[in-house]
Amino acid sequence: MPTGQAGLIVSIAALARPEIVAMKPYSSARSEADSTGILLNANESPWPLVDDPGTDECHRGELNRYPEPQHAGLIKRFASLYDLPSDHVLLTRGSDDGIDLLVRVFCRAGHDAILDCPPSFGMYRIAAQTQGALITSISRIPDSLELDTRRILDAARQANPPRLIFLTSPANPTGDLVGPEFLIRLLEVTAGRSVVVVDEAYAEFAASHSFTGLIRKYEHLVVLRTLSKAFASAALRCGALLAQPGLIDLLKRVMPPYPIATPVLNLALKLFEPESLDRQKTMLRKFRKNKSVLIDSLSNRPFVEKVWPGKANFVLARVSDAKELVDHLASNRVTVRQFPVEPLLKNCIRISVGKTSELDKLASALDAYAFEPANRQVEI
Ligand SMILES: *Cc1c(COP(=O)(O)O)cnc(C)c1O
Repeated sequence: MPTGQAGLIVSIAALARPEIVAMKPYSSARSEADSTGILLNANESPWPLVDDPGTDECHRGELNRYPEPQHAGLIKRFASLYDLPSDHVLLTRGSDDGIDLLVRVFCRAGHDAILDCPPSFGMYRIAAQTQGALITSISRIPDSLELDTRRILDAARQANPPRLIFLTSPANPTGDLVGPEFLIRLLEVTAGRSVVVVDEAYAEFAASHSFTGLIRKYEHLVVLRTLSKAFASAALRCGALLAQPGLIDLLKRVMPPYPIATPVLNLALKLFEPESLDRQKTMLRKFRKNKSVLIDSLSNRPFVEKVWPGKANFVLARVSDAKELVDHLASNRVTVRQFPVEPLLKNCIRISVGKTSELDKLASALDAYAFEPANRQVEI
């Protein structure tokens, strides 16, 4: 494999913005020297004012010191979770951070495009618009809401292909998985032409379905994982971007030098302890059980036209009048998501799987909506 400046693999660097490839990476104090002994190199305070509340003695960090830029211990835990070498893991402040880094590294403003398949997760577009990247949209097929795989492959084969292709598995808000045959075909078509990003924010809910196993084979595949959903830690802002080291090296050039705060690191390490992983297993079982409760409470309602159960911790449903139903639920203090600006999701609502007591409240509110149409008219 030919390597260029700083050992980057040439073919993936050829897809990145040339100015990023040419750039000399910032070298932080913490990355230049090890952090033992007398530390007079980073303009830190030698006195902490408050302690990191940490989690226990062995994880307690000093807040006066800059953290390790990419903490080897946390990387190791993600690497063993996904069965990849440590140099295939980049710690991120959640998938939103990974999406932003990818667009900034691979898309020249006004030149290069991302490919997005709406309805999809909104941050792909926001990141592209922020960078001034172009957006090629291949809409899902109306009504079935399936990916239009033929048109995606056509777009990937074009003379000027998108730099980044964003797929989501399970997808948000449709809940479907990317088919393995389709993904492999796409990876074969896009070699040396596009980077394929599979966002697996909800993978654990789909019986640990995952494409991380393909990363060793394809240098242009990126998988995004996060602690926000099935690790029940959305407030932590922590995740992992998985890819071959050449691609990760490019992303590190634009990433701020100390992305993971010490308290975040300490709590993330705690999530990988056996006790937390056991609790996660129990939690995932509760999700599965409550998801079928949620689906049951939507079925046989006259105003529910279609349900997409999907593989994630939510369901999508088409109803007779989404705005009216969402307002009715809101007046019962139940909040669900609607998609007023997405034409393919007209009258669709997305409902997250909640606790049993929360789903009971939802079911009563749906009962009231079904059986008291007169009251609804009075409210208007
Ligand atoms: C929730 C969600 C994310 C958010 O990830 P963070 O790690 O919280 O930034 C990413 N992708 C999809 C598809 C999501 O639904």
